[in-house]
Amino acid sequence: MRSLILAAVLLTTTSSLLPQDRRFVVAIGGLMHESNSFNPAKTVVADFEGMRGATNLQGGDLLASLRKSNTEISGYLDGADQEKFDVYPAYIASATPSGPLTKDTFETLTQRLVTSLKGAPKLDGILLALHGAMVADGYPQADEEIVRRVRTAFGPSIPIVVTHDFHGNPSPELIKLSTALVSYQQNPHLDTRLRGRRAASIMARTLRGEVKPVQVILKPDMVYNIIFQNTYAEPLLPITKASQDLEQSNSKILAVSVMGGYQYSDVPYMGPSVIVVADGDRALADREAKRFADLLWSSRDRIVLKIPDPAAAVKQAMAETKFPVSLFDTGDNVGGGSSADSTFILDELVKQKATGWVMTIADPAAVQTATKAGIGNTFDMAVGGKADNLHGKPVSIRGKVKSLHDGDYIETEIRHGGGRYFSMGPTAVIEVDGGTKDEKNLLILTTRRIVPFSIHQIVSLGIYPERQKILVAKGTVAPRAGYEPVSAKIIVVDSPGSTAVNPGRFTFKNVRGKLWGMQ
Ligand SMILES: [Zn+2]
Repeated sequence: MRSLILAAVLLTTTSSLLPQDRRFVVAIGGLMHESNSFNPAKTVVADFEGMRGATNLQGGDLLASLRKSNTEISGYLDGADQEKFDVYPAYIASATPSGPLTKDTFETLTQRLVTSLKGAPKLDGILLALHGAMVADGYPQADEEIVRRVRTAFGPSIPIVVTHDFHGNPSPELIKLSTALVSYQQNPHLDTRLRGRRAASIMARTLRGEVKPVQVILKPDMVYNIIFQNTYAEPLLPITKASQDLEQSNSKILAVSVMGGYQYSDVPYMGPSVIVVADGDRALADREAKRFADLLWSSRDRIVLKIPDPAAAVKQAMAETKFPVSLFDTGDNVGGGSSADSTFILDELVKQKATGWVMTIADPAAVQTATKAGIGNTFDMAVGGKADNLHGKPVSIRGKVKSLHDGDYIETEIRHGGGRYFSMGPTAVIEVDGGTKDEKNLLILTTRRIVPFSIHQIVSLGIYPERQKILVAKGTVAPRAGYEPVSAKIIVVDSPGSTAVNPGRFTFKNVRGKLWGMQ
């Protein structure tokens, strides 16, 4: 979803067979952000005004472009066509995941949303696209506050149907304030459009008086760790499948949303949720919500986070018999926005006197030092751990400059993200003291932060991954396609950092209590 402002024009989405005065008018609005409470970078209004790819599209043009995408908004538009209601385009904006919104930003955006909705000449219902994990200064459960403001502006009787990302952390209060909540059921999210269509259908049927939505939310007191949030694999796969089956088999069930939650939001209702929307039957909604909450809770023994910390991971890698072993540095997941200069694993490689390793650190100053020294000459400097205070301290490295590069490389296979041309910027390879002729310790210093999608990042520097014993890749999932083919084994490391997968590495202050899985 891009950041968009829609002109206040009323659009008839299909040529009508009904008299114009019998068509309902439903507004489409949205504010979407996934906020990491532990990311010090605040999100501001400008982040919602990126307008990449959709600049200056308004009204009908904008809806035409949204129709071609596969978001919940395109699903709303499909629903409007099928159910024959008119669409009033209100304010829609989203921004890339980052830190919480400033209070001013939240006030400005909600004001824009409510003002745009108020601009409608006539309104029968409101479809609201919210992520569900927005955090703002002063409003930890920011999505709840958005719904509250819209509800306050339009009164208790207008239907407000909300959609959420699978990673939302909805509160019971949001469930009270909205008419129905429908979340994506799948992660990776391949069903966004279908879920928007379901929300639009609930809206239309409610307006026609065919159904009376009642909804129930249950929140098992647990963290469903991000590592296990794949709905196409056990243990979530059968639970997701059961939620889809229930929607299809019981006409009294309007929507079932089993949400994984977002563990990087320090808010009261962080964690997984079950929301069941039934037609007038609260006991049914209660019963089914309880069934799904129990399914989540009883899968605890299959989602225990048992991965080694950097010290244990390096020790384990050194003890293996088949090489190379790849260590995935999850705390410094560059694709998730981290610094790319974490030193926790580097420090252990040096301390434990590992040999035959390759590791990459983004450190422009160290590249300059190596370049000045020149190939074959001594390198002696503390590297990494400089971008922020979350990714370790600089580690003293002594060795010689092995090679210098422009840092460009090409990936011809399809890897995560599908990129072909990459540039690390000026890059130096340091042969670090302590290795042997056969088992060299190679530290790659790059100017830019690079997500390790491709093994050619190191191959292009004249390094043969198959001759090394330990490869370190900074990521959780992104490096798999590139590193699996060359690795005898992959060890996912519980390393600290802004993208740490272990909730025990963060101090939560606002969560409703101690949850299972927080460690
Ligand atoms: Zn998501």
